[in-house]
Parts: sequence; structure tokens; C-alpha cells
Amino acid sequence: TPGKLSGKAAIVTGASSGIGVATALALAGEGAAVVLTARREERLQDVARRIRTAGGQAEVVVADVAKEAQAQEIVQRAMDAFGRIDILVNNAGLMLLGPVVGADTTDWQRMIDVNLLGLMYATHAALPHMQRQGEGHIVNISSVSGRGASPTSAGYSASKWAVGGFSEGLRQEVRLHGIRVTVIEPGVVATELTDHITHQATKSSYEERIKTMTPLEAEDIAAAVTYAVTQPKRVNVNQLLIRPLDQG
Ligand code: NDP
Repeated sequence: TPGKLSGKAAIVTGASSGIGVATALALAGEGAAVVLTARREERLQDVARRIRTAGGQAEVVVADVAKEAQAQEIVQRAMDAFGRIDILVNNAGLMLLGPVVGADTTDWQRMIDVNLLGLMYATHAALPHMQRQGEGHIVNISSVSGRGASPTSAGYSASKWAVGGFSEGLRQEVRLHGIRVTVIEPGVVATELTDHITHQATKSSYEERIKTMTPLEAEDIAAAVTYAVTQPKRVNVNQLLIRPLDQG
């Protein structure tokens, strides 16, 4: 039976782990051809194999989305493989939590580069194709930290609030071309995201906090993405905020 996304093509950034893997599998499960992109090739190939084994179409593009030329390459490879781009899920990201005072400022640089500029570059590269098609859907994975903040989240929140600002301006601009924009704001999801935190005291206390709750699964966020992109064209799901029940 054809899925709700049969004949559509999607790009998922950060498709080598966590929310990106679950989203790629979910979109492929609805029949979309999926371009899987991130830096770790073996992980991407593994996801591609799972999609193909289930009868779907997948293309792997190894790229650092924070480098503009590589973000453009992702989009070009998607066009070469599938001839269109219906959905771009900007999911690649880093959450390098830590205090502002004494921060390693390279953490800020990396978060702005990937969470914000990578998302902007990929969007910028995909939009002309969506505009030509007269339709398209940009899904930006922000965070509860994209609308709130706490001690140790200042740098991360800065990158995610910026995603909110970019997305809102973009929504108003591109709706006239039939292009929809959705921002998804997850609370705590069990993924590898915390592994990369460089401030050790913050990493430990965050990990302890997660142990006290039942976090969301990556599949819960993939379901939100799938919901947004399978609505009738008149429906523009602008924002979805999803917390675990245990998160205050
Ligand atoms: P993971 O660490 O499991 O996944 C992050 C993904 O981003 C990986 O696939 C990684 O791939 C990719 N990535 C990182 N840097 C780059 C880069 N420079 N170029 C290309 N890809 C890159 O974490 P999550 O699945 O949790 O995170 C996905 C998104 O969800 C992020 O934007 C995160 O901020 C957001 N989010 C997560 C929450 C959570 O609690 N887990 C809560 C709220 C939001 P690779 O290393 O192979 O390049």
C-alpha cells in the first residue's frame, strides 16, 4: 500500500543517530525517498540498508552541514538522486551545555555553526528547488531551549532561539510559494546528544537529571515530524512543543 509520502523526497540532516535516524525511518516508512546526511558514513550506510531492506529508497551523503559548500552538495545530491526535494528536516545539532562564565567559546562557535548556520545553509540551498516545484516543507528541529533558558543553557539557547527567529521570518516569506515551515521543540529525548558536552560538571549533572525521569524516545519526535509533513497542503503546522511527562 502506498504511504502518505509516496513519490516525495526528503533530506534528513543528522541522520546518523538519535532523532535523525528515527525521522529518516519514519519518513521512509510513509514512502518517501530519503537522503541521509551527517559526517559518520558507516552509521548512515546502516540506516540506508534498513530503509532499502524494507523496500524503500535511500541515498547517503557524507557532509558537514556547517560548511556551506557541503550543505549545497547535500541538496545537489538529493536532486541528482530523486529529482526533487519535498521535505528538508534540519535536525543536525549539538547541545554543548555549560556556564557562560569561563566557557570554552569554541563550544559556542560549534553550536552556532551547526545548529544555526548549517540549518540556514541547507535551507538556502533547498529553497530554489522547492520554489520551482511550487511546494516544499522545511522542518527545523529546535528545542524547549528555543523558547526558554536555564543556567548552563545560554549558549545552546542562543543558537535555538535564533532558529525560532529565522523560521518565523522564513515562514512568512515562503508561504507565498507554497512552502511550509515547521519548528519542533523537543524536551529531553534519550539520544547521544549529551555525549558531546565538554563541561564535565554540567555533563554529569545533566546525566543525573535524566536518570530521574522517563525521557522521550527519538521515535516520539519522528512521529511529530511525520504528523507535520503529512497534513493536507492547506495546513501549516508552525510549532510543536513536546516534553516528557516527567519534565517540569
Ligand atoms: P544526536 O547527538 O544523537 O544526533 C545529532 C546528529 O547531528 C548526529 O547525526 C550528528 O551526526 C549530526 N551532526 C552533528 N554535527 C554535525 C555536522 N557538523 N554536520 C552534519 N551533521 C552533524 O542528538 P539528537 O538526535 O538528540 O539531536 C538532534 C537534534 O535534536 C539536535 O538539533 C538537538 O539540538 C535537538 N534536540 C534534542 C533534544 C534531546 O534531548 N536529545 C532536545 C531538544 C532538541 P555526525 O556526528 O555523524 O555528523
